[in-house]
Amino acid sequence: MLYSKWRPKGFEEVVGQEPIVTTLRNALSSDQVAHAYLFSGPRGTGKTTTARILAKAINCEDLNNGDPCNQCSSCNSINEDVAFDLIEMDAASNRGIDDVRDLRERIAFSPSVMKHKVYLLDEVHMLTTGAFNALLKTLEEPPSYAIFVLATTELHQVPATIVSRCQRFDFRRVPNDAIVQRLAFIAKEEGCTISEESLSVIARQSRGGMRDAITMFEQVVALFGLTPTVEEVNNMLGIIEDDRTNELASALVSDDLVRALELSREVSDDGLDLTKFTKATINILRERLLVTARSKDVDLISLSKLSRIIANLAAADFRRDPSDAIPLEVACTTALIVEPENSSINSVQKVDNSVATTNSNTTGSARDVPIEESEEDRFIQALYQKCREKDVKAGAWLNGSCEVLSMDGNILKLGFYKPFHMQKVENEGRTLVEQQASILLKRDVTLEVQLVNDKKPRRAPQRGHLAKAALELGAKPVHLEGKD
Ligand SMILES: [Zn+2]
Repeated sequence: MLYSKWRPKGFEEVVGQEPIVTTLRNALSSDQVAHAYLFSGPRGTGKTTTARILAKAINCEDLNNGDPCNQCSSCNSINEDVAFDLIEMDAASNRGIDDVRDLRERIAFSPSVMKHKVYLLDEVHMLTTGAFNALLKTLEEPPSYAIFVLATTELHQVPATIVSRCQRFDFRRVPNDAIVQRLAFIAKEEGCTISEESLSVIARQSRGGMRDAITMFEQVVALFGLTPTVEEVNNMLGIIEDDRTNELASALVSDDLVRALELSREVSDDGLDLTKFTKATINILRERLLVTARSKDVDLISLSKLSRIIANLAAADFRRDPSDAIPLEVACTTALIVEPENSSINSVQKVDNSVATTNSNTTGSARDVPIEESEEDRFIQALYQKCREKDVKAGAWLNGSCEVLSMDGNILKLGFYKPFHMQKVENEGRTLVEQQASILLKRDVTLEVQLVNDKKPRRAPQRGHLAKAALELGAKPVHLEGKD
């Protein structure tokens, strides 16, 4: 097992947890070790490894700057897994009060060989309430020679009474660069020739877990030998290397729905796993999103378009059948369907047009009408923003697709330009829209919808206070930001 073989033996080898390592080293060299530690963080980020190094350092006969010597009998016994005074317990399989009682009985005996007895309780959140209470008693009055290290992947499931008794360290996901570096070192030591690109692929798949990364690397070597290619690595990890991911991303960005649908069908006909294919396409779009967001003249339209495409693809559910093209086709269609006429710039133009029509068709004051129109528009923009924060799809249905017809008492009447948006909002978005409108207006709101002709002059709006209320609550009209 490469993971055990290359498990860090000293603090300097623990990758990606520098602040924790530094704090522990300082505590050790100044002899200020706590009685109880709580190590929390995702799996495979070095919690138990660090606990074992800590156990060695506490007992080491030749401590050097807080680092264990890995030479003395105490260090050796821990490295060889024969240390009597390091007691490891997996709370996942020893959850009950009896197990903790047993632990407490063992704590009563002072260490037999070493200076300190170290108790390492892994997955401590799994303990039963009774067991937690028993543990708490021990933590309240620990014998002077005992050190506890509790480790957990689910910090929120550990009772606050336990957490407050411990010095807490939050382990973070290991950065990809650090994983690649460590893997490169191990590969070299193992006589394996593997490209940095391959190691990056592994690092990305491990999602910040060093243990998973090393295990994957080991599987690659076991399958393909000491000179694996990128294709082989991709293949083993089930990553799709298919140019059509790029093609689909481009088709979506350039609004080519026909091509996107053709590609979806082709890929499905070829028997590719559409979960992976879609994920790979999403990753390409995420890169573009990042590039767009970073550029000096941030293009808000492209940003919102990219994020809408990504959101739609990410929502596609292939669990029923990973080779079924339908979820992907639907995702492509919903991603593009709102784009051509409902981008925020277009909605501004729409308002301008209708203002012009209103002015020419009514006898109302030319000064008053545009102001009222614009405030109504601001309310609907604020509503769109609030709904989008809760549900991207609902946001898309409201984006420039409707206008406020009236707001009498508790009834909010929206006029939609297209049956599709109206039906979506009525059938799936009603609760959300009513909820968010209530928040904006600080009163109960019931939604009514109807279809309106985009070009028809609107009913003279009378409720400028709606928009004022929304603006007071911090709502910003989107189209103004877009123009800046
Ligand atoms: Zn030592």
